[in-house]
Amino acid sequence: MAEVHKAQKVVVVGAGPVGALAALYAANRGDDVHVYELRADLRDPSTTPLNFTKSINLALSERGINSMRQSQSVGLLEEVLKETIPMHARMIHGRRKGGELFQESQAYDANGRYIQAVDRASLNKRLLEALEKLPNVTLHFNHKLTGADFDRKTAWFEQHNNAKKTDHAQNPTQNDALWDDQKRATEISVNFDLIIGADGAHSATRYHMMKFARLDYQQEYIDTLWCEFHIAPRSPDSSFAIDPNHLHIWPGGSFMFIAIPSLDKSFTCTLFAPASHFSSVSENPEQKLVKFFHQNFPGVCPELISTSDLQKQFRENPHLPLISIKCKPYHYKSSVVILGDAAHAMVPFYGQGMNAGLEDVRVLFDILDKHGIYDAGTSDHRSRNEAREAALDEYTSQRAPDAAAINDLALRNYEEMRSGVQSPLYKMRKWMEET
Ligand code: FAD
Repeated sequence: MAEVHKAQKVVVVGAGPVGALAALYAANRGDDVHVYELRADLRDPSTTPLNFTKSINLALSERGINSMRQSQSVGLLEEVLKETIPMHARMIHGRRKGGELFQESQAYDANGRYIQAVDRASLNKRLLEALEKLPNVTLHFNHKLTGADFDRKTAWFEQHNNAKKTDHAQNPTQNDALWDDQKRATEISVNFDLIIGADGAHSATRYHMMKFARLDYQQEYIDTLWCEFHIAPRSPDSSFAIDPNHLHIWPGGSFMFIAIPSLDKSFTCTLFAPASHFSSVSENPEQKLVKFFHQNFPGVCPELISTSDLQKQFRENPHLPLISIKCKPYHYKSSVVILGDAAHAMVPFYGQGMNAGLEDVRVLFDILDKHGIYDAGTSDHRSRNEAREAALDEYTSQRAPDAAAINDLALRNYEEMRSGVQSPLYKMRKWMEET
């Protein structure tokens, strides 16, 4: 007698943009989906902002847009796009020899296509909202993947108590020992048919998969740190301080400063520079930082960011590293596959890290569909496992070279953004002025 058709149990590790989209794709195909996320729900206003270590504003491109379009979630893409700002071109900022500031707009596409500025947290929230509407999805926040046996298809999660220190402060009778007790995690074990690891660059799924699959792994920290800054809306009319429909770049040769528009008419900016520059400036930020900006990023300080704000933001915002990761294969048998930064974290200079991760989801589910995972004829356990293993094999073969190529392009685009953007015309003009 044929086995009764039963929904696959899909466990998604990580509710970042890639994990959330993967969960949507699986849920819209009828899977029983459980999402386990290390952090608290980012929609909870009392949660530590997610943007602590993640850039607030990202460039969303057709790769990512198309993956949301294909998600079968009605209205999702429209909701996301409502909260974006088109960036038609990059704006290169510089100073001529005579001291005059200039801006040069360079269109992204001869046919008028463009990229969109999006707030990472809003995008993530829209995806979580779409997930919550589906009856076959359960979201488990404050759950950390700690182990997995991919042959037995069992994973272990630490479930962290959601109690907050402020609760403790409001309850003075609660002593510290009790507080520690409350905080202590409990471990749960979870069975699955397929686990999708979308738990970011320091992926625990990938780490545990390495004990099962013969996984080649390569990681590189490039000699560049980044720090976020903020250009407030112009007063008194609260308008954008610079053109909102551009990605602004101040190229500096071995470093650069960029600004991306936000819906509240501010700009999220990032300084990228070698670690040695950060150390040198950190020795005496009061004097060195403003001088560094004045010399290299004309028109930023004090015109767009006041001297005191620049120093405060440099002091208070973290100085973070950039990692580039390649690995292969992306799966083990029929039981696990890694997507997004977990599989191919890349430097941000091509603006494609998240976009490529969202595209992973579309490519993976296209291949699962092609192998008949969701066809009635593949509903018995054994044939579905076999079909899934063949699909994951094909996914690694197809996706790993593509992701590695995007990874390499991202590294190469750093050179383009920090100095190549100084177009031949610009370079010739500068040369003529200087000779
Ligand atoms: P993440 O966003 O890292 O999400 C992983 C999730 O997994 C997190 O929620 C985390 O809490 C959770 N998690 C981690 N460990 C566990 C565990 N053990 N158990 C359970 N959950 C866990 N990309 C673009 O496309 N365009 C851009 O313009 C762009 N700009 C960038 C600028 C900067 C400065 C940086 C640093 C990155 C930029 N990126 C950009 C890259 C982009 O941020 C990432 O590629 C994207 O966030 C990856 O999404 P993800 O869902 O794979 O991983």
